[in-house]
Amino acid sequence: MENMENKFGHFPIYRTGIGQDSHRFLPADSSKPCVIGSLIFEGVPGLDADSDGDVALHAICNAITSLSGVPILGGIAIDLCRKDGITDSTVYLQRALQTLGKQKIVHVAMTIEGKRPRFEEKIMSMRRKIAHLLSVSEKQVGITATSGDGLTDFGCGDGLQCFCLLTTVLVDV
Ligand SMILES: [Zn+2]
Repeated sequence: MENMENKFGHFPIYRTGIGQDSHRFLPADSSKPCVIGSLIFEGVPGLDADSDGDVALHAICNAITSLSGVPILGGIAIDLCRKDGITDSTVYLQRALQTLGKQKIVHVAMTIEGKRPRFEEKIMSMRRKIAHLLSVSEKQVGITATSGDGLTDFGCGDGLQCFCLLTTVLVDV
């Protein structure tokens, strides 16, 4: 796949991926930490998953799959988790990034829905963390969080849902 040429010459090819993920909270007496965007949130139970249940990183992995066609959460991560015992979602993300090939990340837009935990004071830290993991600047990562006005199970506090839009540009090298 190469950049296309028209009468204006070489122009960049942008692509957009979309990913979603959701997990239910474990019971309140669970000792599993709540990990979202590779940050630990105190005061809430962990998320129910074989892995650390990081909905934000999983949504990014799914967005990458929508661009690369390579299954990560449904493929590579299952093996990493069940065969190698790796539950750290940053490892899944690193593997996912390798599948992007010549697609360079331009922007990441994420939205998280859930009644708990409180995200406001951690949004900047999460942007920094995700930017670092994706090797982009924090200006290229946008994150919003909403309680959803209690209209869904997420908004009622049963779990968390995250969507990710990932924009890439094709590079020649
Ligand atoms: Zn997940």
